[in-house]
Amino acid sequence: MKADLYLHDGLVVTEDGAFHGGVTVKDGKIAQILHGDLAVEAEETIELGGKALLPGLVDDHAHFNEPGRTEWEGFLTGSMSAAAGGVTTPLEMPLNATPPTIDRAQLLRKHELASTQCVVDYAFWGGLVHDNLKEIDALHAEGVIGFKSFMSDAGTDFPRVDDDLLYAGLRKVKQLGNIIGLHAENDSIVSYAARQLREAGRVDRDAWLESRPPEGELEAIRRALYWAAAADARLHIVHISIADGVRAIAEARRSGTRATAETCPHYLCLDRDAFVRLGPVAKCAPPIRPRAEVEQLWKCLLDGMVDTVASDHSPCPVADKERGNDNIWEAWGGVTGIQTMLPAILTEGVHKRGLTLPHLVRLMSANPARIFGVYPKKGALLPGSDADMVIVDLDEEWTLSADQMFSKHKHCPYVGMHFKGQVERTIVRGTTVYQDGEILVKPGFGKLVRRLAA
Ligand SMILES: [Zn+2]
Repeated sequence: MKADLYLHDGLVVTEDGAFHGGVTVKDGKIAQILHGDLAVEAEETIELGGKALLPGLVDDHAHFNEPGRTEWEGFLTGSMSAAAGGVTTPLEMPLNATPPTIDRAQLLRKHELASTQCVVDYAFWGGLVHDNLKEIDALHAEGVIGFKSFMSDAGTDFPRVDDDLLYAGLRKVKQLGNIIGLHAENDSIVSYAARQLREAGRVDRDAWLESRPPEGELEAIRRALYWAAAADARLHIVHISIADGVRAIAEARRSGTRATAETCPHYLCLDRDAFVRLGPVAKCAPPIRPRAEVEQLWKCLLDGMVDTVASDHSPCPVADKERGNDNIWEAWGGVTGIQTMLPAILTEGVHKRGLTLPHLVRLMSANPARIFGVYPKKGALLPGSDADMVIVDLDEEWTLSADQMFSKHKHCPYVGMHFKGQVERTIVRGTTVYQDGEILVKPGFGKLVRRLAA
C-alpha cells in the first residue's frame, strides 16, 4: 500500500512515550507508527528533521461567540486561531453566543454556521441552565460532547443552576452516558464580596481577586463533587485556579467519584502581579491567583492530578476590555488564548518545570478526547485515528506580536511575551491546515465531530 503522506525523522510523541520515528497517513487516517527512519513509499513526504510530532490538540473549552456575537470572534477566526495553535479539535462552548446553545434548534443553527467556516474539526457543548432539562435528550442525540453549567451567575441569558437542577442534570447525563462541565464558584460568596467591595468604592484590579476568593471556588467544587457522587455521574470541573480544588477532585476520585479536573494556561503562566500590570486583558473568573498559588497548581499538575489543560479562549472587542482600565468591574471577563496555549505550556511547563511531552499530550490531546467521547478518532497517534497532528519546533524562541494573532481582535495577555517552542505546522485528517503563519485551507474544511461513545 502506497501511503498518501509520510512524516519521518521526527520525535514522535504519544501519551505513552517519545521516540525517533515517523507516521504514515492513508485516506486522512493514521496508517502506521514507525520507529526509526525507514524508507516508505508515499505520495508526499515531510522531513521533520528531528522536530516533535504530536497528536493535534483537543481543546475542551473554547468560546467562538457565534451566532449573535460574531463581531467578538466567530467560527472562522476562532478556528484559524486554533489551527495556528496546534488545536485540531476545539470543543466549543454554548455561551457567549446569542442566543446560547440550550436547545436543539440553536445547536443545529451552530452546525450550519460552523460547517461553512471552520478550518479545523470541531465539536459542540450543549448548555444546562435552570429551565432546560427537557432539552437535554435532544442535544445529546445531536452529539454534544458535554453540558456546560454554572454554579455562579453567568449573565442573564445563561442562568446558573442551583443544587436542585445540578443534581437533576447530573442524574440525567448519567442516564445518557454524557457529562457535565461545571463552572464552580459559590454564587452568594462571590456576589456578596463584589457588592461590599463596590460599595466601598474599590475599582482596582486586586478588588477583582478579592471578590472571588479561593474558598468560594473550593466550596463550590466540594459541593459539586458531593452531588456527582450522589448521582454517580460524570462531572468535569472547568478552569480550576486553585491547587486545593484539584486536590479535592483527586481525593473524591479515590473514593469512586467520577470527576475530572481542568485548568488553563492563564492560571499556570500568569499570576496576580501580571494581572495587576496587564489589567482587563487578563480579567477572567475565577481570577488569576498569586504566585504561590500558581506554583501549587503546577505541583498538582506535575504530580498527575490535573486531567486537562484547556484554553477557555473567550475573546471580545478591545473596547469591552479597555472600558475597565480604570475600573476593573467594567471590563468583560475572558482571556483570548487558543493560539498561544501550546507555546505557553511548552515554555512554562516543558522547558521551565520539566513537564514531559507525553504528559503534555495526555493533558492537551488524549485526556480531553477521552473525557468528551471523541477518542481515539481524535487525540491519539494510533492506526485508524484521524491524522490530526502538530509539528512543533521545541527550541524556537520567539515573542508574540499582536499582528501574528488570527483572532478577530488582536489583544491577549501574551502579546510581548517570550516563548520557547513554536507550532510550525498543523495537519487535520492528513491535510496541512496551517504552516508558518499561514492558513492553507478554505473556510468549511473543518468537520463536525459528535460524541462517539459514553
Ligand atoms: Zn469558558
